[in-house]
Amino acid sequence: MQSTTLLIIGGGPGGYIAAIRAGQLGIPTVLVESDNVGGTCLNIGCIPSKALIHAADEFHKVVGYGGSSSLGIQVSTPAIDIGKTVAWKDGVVKRLTGGVAALLKKNGVHVIKGWARIIDGKTIAIDQGGKAGEPLQISCEHLLLATGSAATELPDMPFGGKVISSTQALSPTTVPERIAVVGAGYIGLELGIAYRKLGAQVSIIEAQDRILPAYDADLTKPVLASLKKLGVTLHLSCAVKGMNAAGTALRVLDQRDSELLFETDQVLVAVGRRPRTAGFGLESLMLDMDSRSLRIDDQCRTSMHNVWAIGDLVGEPMLAHRAMAQGEMVAEIIAGKSRRFTPASIPAVCFTDPEIAVAGLSPDEATQQGLDCIHAMFPFSANGRAMTLESTEGFVRVVARRDNHLVVGWQAVGPGVSELSTAFSQSLEMGARLEDVAGTIHAHPSLGEAVQEAALRALGHALHI
Ligand code: FAD
Ligand code: NAD
Repeated sequence: MQSTTLLIIGGGPGGYIAAIRAGQLGIPTVLVESDNVGGTCLNIGCIPSKALIHAADEFHKVVGYGGSSSLGIQVSTPAIDIGKTVAWKDGVVKRLTGGVAALLKKNGVHVIKGWARIIDGKTIAIDQGGKAGEPLQISCEHLLLATGSAATELPDMPFGGKVISSTQALSPTTVPERIAVVGAGYIGLELGIAYRKLGAQVSIIEAQDRILPAYDADLTKPVLASLKKLGVTLHLSCAVKGMNAAGTALRVLDQRDSELLFETDQVLVAVGRRPRTAGFGLESLMLDMDSRSLRIDDQCRTSMHNVWAIGDLVGEPMLAHRAMAQGEMVAEIIAGKSRRFTPASIPAVCFTDPEIAVAGLSPDEATQQGLDCIHAMFPFSANGRAMTLESTEGFVRVVARRDNHLVVGWQAVGPGVSELSTAFSQSLEMGARLEDVAGTIHAHPSLGEAVQEAALRALGHALHI
């Protein structure tokens, strides 16, 4: 039997970052991944979805120019070759997964392609598919579980045929004429909008009475307006019952319990993801659980000595950057460094049109935590750069303690605000006060000036409004 110091199951952003950092720190490390390294994020998640969203945005822009462009640009009959779009997207994925594989190799990580099964907290069997003989067994001092998550199925509508998950939606062979999307969360809205821009008729069906329930209503209002403008139909407070007998339409009960039938070519089910806890012997360790995810402490230790867990496997927020930060930390703790996972914030971005970016507390969350806060927003309609980009909807909002002006939260909605999330997280992590942000020279013209102006406005002396 081979042995190693650290054995990692799962080569997604959590697992591969832990492996790279462990390699940098000189820890003998084995990474077991059944598929391509990069996990959900690089192969079937963050990267391919943002590539498809970008392609859809570009196409939609050109289609718009075919009408009356205020910029004076004219084009004739634009068309999209979706096969080429998907091939380009696959190229981006391949470059990134190839890059990760090279980084793992450079840092001395032994990557094994195969399905890992837990024998006990210190021994793993690896089924390498085609390879003959007994599964490879490896013993380890530390076991890091980073097996990620999988899309949730609806009870009466398993994935297959017309019913697809985000994975199939990210590799279309044709753009469907009509697509019904179940769930108005991250995936339903990001991909629903992209499909609409690619030319499909899109209906979104949501169980709750609002879109993006995790974000406050001020932030989702511009997204609602954009859905309306794009012609995406939205059905809130609805219960999905399954497909009709002919398999041609989605059956939905509306708020009044009336049945609606959505004739559709495809149904994208995007109702959340669940931690991948089954199929690899995890139950044999009898680790403490929190509902459906593994319970960990602030160092990502499970209830068993030297068994660690990170990323989507440990529940919300299921975001790639959280998984990476946890992975890096675990490698450092194993190397003897003193670390705890206590970030000031974990930023979140929704790549809708317009985008939403948040970090830290919203005004309501601050109140719920008993903090006496002030908040102020600065609209992009008063920002010069936004005007030059024809994108003046949305705003930046800051939340800060009333007594000492410590910034506790940022929110923004508007085109391109994903890039502002960096400034938000940095100011929170560095303990900035309103005066620090207001007193920092921000380059002109830039959307970032709205960040400075929001802080100035909270102090009572915004300059451009
Ligand atoms: P994963 O990335 O899921 O990786 C787990 C890996 O473990 C997989 O590669 C799997 O093959 C492997 N594995 C599992 N079990 C075994 C086993 N027994 N043996 C061997 N290998 C195994 N997050 C963001 O932050 N920003 C975004 O824009 C974003 N967009 C997304 C878009 C979509 C469509 C989806 C589906 C997700 C998106 N996410 C986004 C979420 C993000 O992808 C996840 O939070 C992130 O990938 C979690 O990383 P992880 O390492 O925990 O798990
Ligand atoms: P989600 O939790 O964001 O949204 C699911 C939506 O489906 C919710 O609005 C929920 O109310 C609704 N829903 C649940 N059951 C339903 C039902 N039976 N009928 C109708 N609606 C129903 O989940 P998601 O969009 O599947 O994304 C999964 C996870 O992937 C996210 O939580 C996030 O962690 C990650 N992700 C992140 C990004 C990003 O960071 N930009 C993008 C995509 C995915």
